[in-house]
Amino acid sequence: MLFSQIINVLGIESLQFYEERDVQFILTDSRKLILPGSTVFFAFNSAHKNAHQFLEALYQNGVRNFIVKEGETLPEMPEANIIVVQDVLTALQVVTGFHRHQFQYPVIAITGSNGKTIVKEWLYILLQDDFQIIRSPRSYNSQVGVPLSLWQMEEQHNLALIEAGISHAGEMQALQKIIDPDIGLITFMGVAHAEGFENFEEKIREKLQLFTHAKVLIYCKDEILLHKNVQDFQKKTNPGLKLFSWSGQEDADLRVSVHADKAGKSRLEIFTAGEKFEIIIPFTDKASIHNALTCCALLIFLGIKPENISEKMQRLRAVEMRLDLKQGIHHCAVVNDSYSADINSLNIALDFMFQLPGSGRHTLILSDLLEAGMSDDALYHKISRLLSTRKFFRFIGVGHNMKMYSHLFNFAPNTSFYTSTDELVADLPHIGFNDEIILLKGARSFAFEKISHRLEEKVHETQLEIDLNGLRHNFLLYRKLLPSGVKIMAMVKALSYGSGSFEVASVLQHTGADYLGVAYADEGVDLRKAGIHLPIMVMNTEIGAFDSILNADLQPEIYSLYMLEAFSKYLDSQGIQHYPVHIKLDTGMHRLGFQEADIPQMLSTISHSSFIRIISVFSHLIASDDQSQDKRTADQYKLFSHMADRIEEATGYEVMRHIANTTAIHRHAEMQEDMVRLGIGLYGINADAQMQGRLQNVTTLKTTVSQVKKARKGETVGYGGKLVLEREYTIAVVRIGYADGYPRTLGNGKGSMWVKGKLAPVIGNVCMDMTMLDVTGLDVNEEDEVIVFGADLPVADLASWAGTIPYEILTNISERVKRVYFEE
Ligand SMILES: *Cc1c(COP(=O)(O)O)cnc(C)c1O
Repeated sequence: MLFSQIINVLGIESLQFYEERDVQFILTDSRKLILPGSTVFFAFNSAHKNAHQFLEALYQNGVRNFIVKEGETLPEMPEANIIVVQDVLTALQVVTGFHRHQFQYPVIAITGSNGKTIVKEWLYILLQDDFQIIRSPRSYNSQVGVPLSLWQMEEQHNLALIEAGISHAGEMQALQKIIDPDIGLITFMGVAHAEGFENFEEKIREKLQLFTHAKVLIYCKDEILLHKNVQDFQKKTNPGLKLFSWSGQEDADLRVSVHADKAGKSRLEIFTAGEKFEIIIPFTDKASIHNALTCCALLIFLGIKPENISEKMQRLRAVEMRLDLKQGIHHCAVVNDSYSADINSLNIALDFMFQLPGSGRHTLILSDLLEAGMSDDALYHKISRLLSTRKFFRFIGVGHNMKMYSHLFNFAPNTSFYTSTDELVADLPHIGFNDEIILLKGARSFAFEKISHRLEEKVHETQLEIDLNGLRHNFLLYRKLLPSGVKIMAMVKALSYGSGSFEVASVLQHTGADYLGVAYADEGVDLRKAGIHLPIMVMNTEIGAFDSILNADLQPEIYSLYMLEAFSKYLDSQGIQHYPVHIKLDTGMHRLGFQEADIPQMLSTISHSSFIRIISVFSHLIASDDQSQDKRTADQYKLFSHMADRIEEATGYEVMRHIANTTAIHRHAEMQEDMVRLGIGLYGINADAQMQGRLQNVTTLKTTVSQVKKARKGETVGYGGKLVLEREYTIAVVRIGYADGYPRTLGNGKGSMWVKGKLAPVIGNVCMDMTMLDVTGLDVNEEDEVIVFGADLPVADLASWAGTIPYEILTNISERVKRVYFEE
């Protein structure tokens, strides 16, 4: 949408119109900036913060379109388009509502008390063969979430699935106007509680507002109050509304009967329009059956053939939400939600928990919560009311406030309170959890990970653990080694040396990195998508990636006359001036970079055009870690300084200089210049023993034992069978092989793994997915943990056994190895 169209749609004049811009992205959370140039920021204030405080930073980062609230003070933003409105949220709804009405295809709106997200995700699975679907992301169903969902509607779709939820009376009308659905779907509404009877009907009536202009409404007739209110609504508000219902008890468009099956499946018999058919779903709990039948009714209404429905229904799976579900000890399931600690998120987490299939025993472990602008008294009464509507098997409160208000939390047969997480952790073995669904809901400061670690069953797979605290420690250690003016470019190329891109970059961004360095434009694009806003330098600039570079606001390395010309031409074709680039100089490595002889021509090209803006010149050292080559390092630096001087002279403006990598930072402190490029040191590795001692280990590669067995004298182990055993061995088979990145060269005793505090040598050849270890004399059992490298077995040792360097070992760990992040 063009900015001038937004002005028209809102029907007010803009405060400042600098230039026409095409707006593609709506930003409501300043941390999620991706492509500043085509973003409009809606600055609406929440209870906790004033969004206008972020305007300046967003403007610095290139955002040029803003919708702001009347009466707020604005920073200087001379080149921005700005509209001032009374209510920013309303403006967001108006703009996205207009956008939605550009499309003629059907919009299906889903509301109800429980199961909205699940029904939406299931419908997506069930209908994706027949439609090009746009759907609300995750559970974007609020006053803000719905507009953001609608904004994603585009020409190429032909069906929209939009989820709508409300938390206050009056909200649904606003959503009705902008969603304006053609088809309505009501998921489980729940039963009224005696005390809130009036309220409950009010809630139903409020939800029905969504369908004021809808053509069809699909719902379950067996919810008696819902059915009664739907009929009223049809009579009084929307006489044109067609009702399409399902029921297990009486006549309906779909008459169903449910048969539970022992193997975790249910068989649903359905009679509709004189026909009878059967579907089987992989669930037996009531909530899932209800959700599946609601989906089924819609499919029938849309004219999908019964035999196709039966086939599609088998694809349904439990929907993974933001809250993840892990297998726990003693047949428990553990849901850990420590992202936020307010009432609303507690409610969402409870919804999630009560929708899960499985045992009927629900356990809640809850810490003190935080809710701005509410007294403790009011807050704990509110929580208590919320919880008393559900049936819990066990309730555990953690924190001083919980303990103080314990009299309000007396509704579960098993109830206990602890002042701290540590106190609870110490008591865990005595609690006797068994066959329960356990929801952990704790404010961050309560560190509920400590509880979940103990409750979760050990994962039986090879995984790379990344200690984000260690990463932070290492970054800050280098920061301290540098004078305050020197910037740090953190090298996150090749998935952050194998450690994972977004998680690592995000920690570095928060910890104070100034720049990020990636190998290819794609890596940079991925980081932008994940919300990284730091400047990013791309080293292997390719012509095919120019578009991505510009779109994602990346800064390319220009390393040759050829690339300089190609990029300038491209910028010219796009009408862009002064685009930030980094000039790479070859001072002896003979990899990418301008050589000294190229300088005159480079300078003449640069001084004749204004397409690029040189942010920095840099070079790379060949052997900064090697004392015997210090003379060469000094020569490289001298040549670098000389070439950089000439460039700076010709441009007439200051450019940053950088040449130091990890080892040069402390071995050649005089070369720190304006910025250093910190790579392997971040990940806890330094060729220098003294520095190595000060770094923390970051990555640990772990696997487990799948089988333990004996091999007798005279037998052989593994492929090839060359080595004949000279004695009896105890062999442990472990779940890692060369396809995971464990080098095959480590076979036959070259390498060892860390088992029960000892080094166990590899015996036989390394296989694709497995390796055999000699564990003779060790007390090793199936499922025991085995460390491939980590704090006790440095990756440098592994590298030297394999005749390579740690960099290669780290970056070769294959993608199928799960990355798991730890943070305290
Ligand atoms: C990878 C890389 C670095 C980082 O090197 P480390 O030895 O890991 O610190 C620095 N500069 C360039 C150009 C690189 O490619």
